Order: sequence, then structure tokens, then C-alpha cells
Amino acid sequence: MEVKILQDVLKANDAIARDNEEKFAGEKVFALNMMSSPGSGKTSILETTLEKMGKELRIAVIEGDIATTMDSERLIRFDIPVIQITTESFGNACHLDANMVGKAYAGLPPKPCDLLFVENVGNLVCPAGFKLGTERNVVVLSVTEGEDKPHKYPLIFRTADCVLINKVDLLPHLDFNLERVREALLAINPKLIVISLSAKTGEGFDAWLDWLREGVKNKKARS
Ligand code: MG
Ligand code: ZN
Repeated sequence: MEVKILQDVLKANDAIARDNEEKFAGEKVFALNMMSSPGSGKTSILETTLEKMGKELRIAVIEGDIATTMDSERLIRFDIPVIQITTESFGNACHLDANMVGKAYAGLPPKPCDLLFVENVGNLVCPAGFKLGTERNVVVLSVTEGEDKPHKYPLIFRTADCVLINKVDLLPHLDFNLERVREALLAINPKLIVISLSAKTGEGFDAWLDWLREGVKNKKARS
């Protein structure tokens, strides 16, 4: 019985995700689902991305958290369309679903955008199970979380298109072998794009920004 209910929930979610996908395609928006555990630096990566690219591309952000508008407040200074979903009004869900994202997208201040970031609730488990209608999945893994995360949470890395290994400025203080983690990630998902960077120092951002530019360009060409 419970399995049946879960399947129904996921099926309903998939249908709404397809609606979102059509909407993003129609409006030529390259939409990304950003996932990670709490504290890995998703919002910091968005801040550094906006500092470096905010004038080049039209960017909008949907922030997901269980409670508080703290993350969206950090982005106000960029004067871009931002909306916060607090899932405590959706039964404290520990992930975003397609319905929340569709509603949030409709509620964004109406400004055309090329690139939409959906920052998911910090959680390496169930966000991977809920499609949002975004085109690409980005997973952030910070070096402070340890090398074991790809082994312990393989599903989220299997559903990812791009993994950002964040906080590499801290590597000298940690036992974290970048090469070993890169190999572990590629063993789980050989098609992964793995980029090491630091939102704090900005190192490694060129590869990430190029990946974003490419995605936006392809989206415009296709739709
Ligand atoms: Mg955040
Ligand atoms: Zn959840």
C-alpha cells in the first residue's frame, strides 16, 4: 500500500515537472536544480556566480529552505528576481517538488531571464527523487564533508550532470584527496562534469561559468 502511494506521488510530481519543463523551454530559460547537503556552499556559489556573471546573463533564483528567508536575503543586493520557498508551509518537506517550483516560478518578479537557479533544500537524499522540470542537476560537494559522500549517497550523484567540489581553498588543512574523489564520482557516473572551485576565493570559477554559458547558448539555439 505505501509503495503504491509513493508511486502515485512521484507520478503526479513527474506530470507537473513536465509542465515546468515546457514552460522553461517556451521561455528559453536554462534551469538548474542545485542540490547538496546543508552548509556545502550553494548560496555562496550563487553569490560568487552573480558577482562574476550578473551583468552578462539575466539570472533569477528560486531559493528552497525549510524555514527562514536568510538565503534569499543574501541575494537581494544583486537586484535580480528572487523568490523563497519555505517548505514549512508544505509540511516541512526536506526537498523541493515540481509543484512548489512551478508556483514559485509563477511568483517571480516578471523579468526575462536566461538562467534560473533552483536552490534545493540542503539534503543529499530525497531531493534526488523529485524531478522539478529543470534541465540540469548540479550537486555541490564541499571538501569539508569528507571523501565518503559519493559512496554513501550514490543516487544524487548518479542523477547529477555537474558536480562542484567547493571550498578547495581549505584543502591544505584537510585529508581530502581531490583526485580520488573525482575518480569515485566518475565511477558512479562516467558522464559527470566535475569542477573544483572555491566560492570564497573565486578559484576554479572559469570552468563553471563556461559550463553555464554553454548551457544558456544551447537552450537558446534549441528552443
Ligand atoms: Mg543555501
Ligand atoms: Zn525530502
